[in-house]
Amino acid sequence: MTAIHVAHPGAEYDVLVAGLDQALPRLAELADGQRLPLISDPRVHELYGERFASIALDEPILVPSGEAAKDWRVLENVIDRLAGLDVKRGTPIVSLGGGSVGDVAGLSASLFKRGCPVVHVPTTLLSQADSAIGGKTAIDAAGQKNLVGSFRHPLLVIADPALLDTLDERQMRSGYAEVVKYGLIDDPGFFDWCEANGGAVIAGAGTARCAAIEHCIRAKIRFVTADPEDRTGTRALLNLGHTFGHAIESLANQKLLHGEAIALGMVLAFEFSAELGLCPTEDAERVKAQLQAAGLPVTIDEVGMSGPVVFDAMKADKKSTASGPTLILCKGIGQAFVAKDVDPQRLAAFLT
Ligand code: NAD
Repeated sequence: MTAIHVAHPGAEYDVLVAGLDQALPRLAELADGQRLPLISDPRVHELYGERFASIALDEPILVPSGEAAKDWRVLENVIDRLAGLDVKRGTPIVSLGGGSVGDVAGLSASLFKRGCPVVHVPTTLLSQADSAIGGKTAIDAAGQKNLVGSFRHPLLVIADPALLDTLDERQMRSGYAEVVKYGLIDDPGFFDWCEANGGAVIAGAGTARCAAIEHCIRAKIRFVTADPEDRTGTRALLNLGHTFGHAIESLANQKLLHGEAIALGMVLAFEFSAELGLCPTEDAERVKAQLQAAGLPVTIDEVGMSGPVVFDAMKADKKSTASGPTLILCKGIGQAFVAKDVDPQRLAAFLT
């Protein structure tokens, strides 16, 4: 078992990378004899719910699978169920599932009785490598991705890479996009590693998957510890590809997975950086080749959209200012930076 400790203002917790059998006694300690509410989706609960039988309340709180969980009505239903189960304010709420379950469970935990602890047991590559850490929670609203949310840092995270054995390949590829992101932001050596080992990470061969998960967890903790509430620009770098990606994801209306939209968003961020003369064209080509080799979309055409439509959808981004969008651009692989007030005309011309 690897225990990675997180400590920064507002949070102190462990991320355990370990088999459930080894890690669940830590959850039982936190439960202190109480049965805990468990939020999951039907598929994940069917696969792994039984493993929580001695810790969780008999009736799970099930939310729809995938992005459909991140919805006002689902949030309301979860809160109603927590109330119906008479969950006390200090009782940890367990989130068992991918990033969508984690986002709505974390938001519910932050709102219910003005805040209950939450324990994340992520079950996808994306959630183990990224979303379970850092305390961001959200639902989609008014047609916009992650419009409503909060910060709720977890009490404990348990990432068991063996749970990914049941995850389908498309979901693995989607999660892999967020893995590659950590190389692209500030770790060119890790991008080289991804080029050599990406296939093994997706296939679950050897120790590559576990190594990738641990590497990304440590990287995410580094960014979050430096800027826990996303205020200084350091944590913003984690949004590489997300301004393009969120627009594409919203337009796709749940037909694209989050990581698929982010993969395309990262390619666009690199290509736009190259077009502005900020980044070598060869770096943009390497990024595109690596994500394409992983089976991820790399052009707007192949997802059936057009540049002007994507540009329009980007205007709604939370980080835009009156003078233009804020993007994460790159001076090369591993050299991401925050670009404020990007010239909207240059961006529109690039996308067109
Ligand atoms: P997901 O939670 O949207 O869906 C995963 C799908 O895989 C579901 O259908 C689920 O039933 C199934 N599944 C999950 N685990 C499984 C397993 N072990 N075996 C078999 N099937 C399994 O997927 P995701 O990619 O983890 O999450 C995407 C969401 O995460 C997006 O909404 C994104 O915005 C969010 N996100 C949040 C943060 C954050 O910091 N809060 C960061 C990145 C992404």
